[in-house]
Amino acid sequence: MSESEPLSPPQERECVLCGRQDVWSDEDTNWRIAHEGEAHCIHEWDINGTYNPF
Ligand SMILES: [Zn+2]
Repeated sequence: MSESEPLSPPQERECVLCGRQDVWSDEDTNWRIAHEGEAHCIHEWDINGTYNPF
């Protein structure tokens, strides 16, 4: 039995390379840095593209 959940945009994201964490701000309609990672990291966000079903 699976209910159909509405797809909501992610509210947070994390870089899988440097560990930087952002949180989504509805006020700014932009990402806010919650935890600084590497300044020169290219940032590979864990929410990019398709969702991992893990
Ligand atoms: Zn990064």
